[in-house]
Amino acid sequence: MTELETTPTKTWKDQAACKGKTDLFFVSRGETHKMQLAKAICATCPVIDPCREYVIYHAERFVVWAGMSEKDRRQYRIEQGIKLSPAQHGTIRRKEAGCRCLECHTARRP
Ligand code: SF4
Ligand SMILES: [Zn+2]
Repeated sequence: MTELETTPTKTWKDQAACKGKTDLFFVSRGETHKMQLAKAICATCPVIDPCREYVIYHAERFVVWAGMSEKDRRQYRIEQGIKLSPAQHGTIRRKEAGCRCLECHTARRP
């Protein structure tokens, strides 16, 4: 594993190989080539380990992160026995997860 630079002002995100190229990481259905390019960048990234630790608990869709698509991350969570706690009611995330309660129906916050 690469020795990470850690100072109070520098975080692992500052060392991300995707810095300045994040457009490439928002992948829509069918954009296989784009996804492969993004995954190839992750494969060279010195901070893939902390990145994976972070993203595995964040259910972002259509984003390649830590060399994984959302589908890959779902599979990884299953393999590792990781369960995401459901988002709170009144959030867009919970609404998108299918909640039909009034609070979620009128949700404005992410
Ligand atoms: S592993 Fe990929 S998504 Fe994560 S910081 Fe590195 S390049 Fe960016
Ligand atoms: Zn709800």
